[in-house]
Amino acid sequence: MTVEDVRFVVETKSELDIKNITEKVKKIVQKNDIQEGTVTLFVAGSTAAITTIEYESGLIHDISEALDRLFPKDIHYKHHEKWHDGNGHSHIRASFIGQSFTAPITDGELELGTWQQIILCDMDVKSRSREVIVKMIGE
Ligand code: ZN
Repeated sequence: MTVEDVRFVVETKSELDIKNITEKVKKIVQKNDIQEGTVTLFVAGSTAAITTIEYESGLIHDISEALDRLFPKDIHYKHHEKWHDGNGHSHIRASFIGQSFTAPITDGELELGTWQQIILCDMDVKSRSREVIVKMIGE
């Protein structure tokens, strides 16, 4: 069994900055020796998330609106009493989507659906620098 560890940084500009990281992850998988296994991505941060979507402008807009409907900004969050950082909704959004994503590696390539792209979603209320940890396990 082989284990590979690669890290990269994604700079985000604002709240709901949604970055397509698919090509970056594909290249990392191709450059490593694992032919059959899994790749796990993890974003180190409690106000960012990783998931997949069909990366087109309509859906990018729709996912932002869905998050606004499900987890509104303009309601009271206890978190604001503690830190006064105004990002209670950001934490809840990130927790619901999750900080990690796993996909199969087959014949040395990342396996995804035809229109399935991996996205990093920054939920925080300001620009951030996000570290993505990539762990590949297999042989
Ligand atoms: Zn906070």
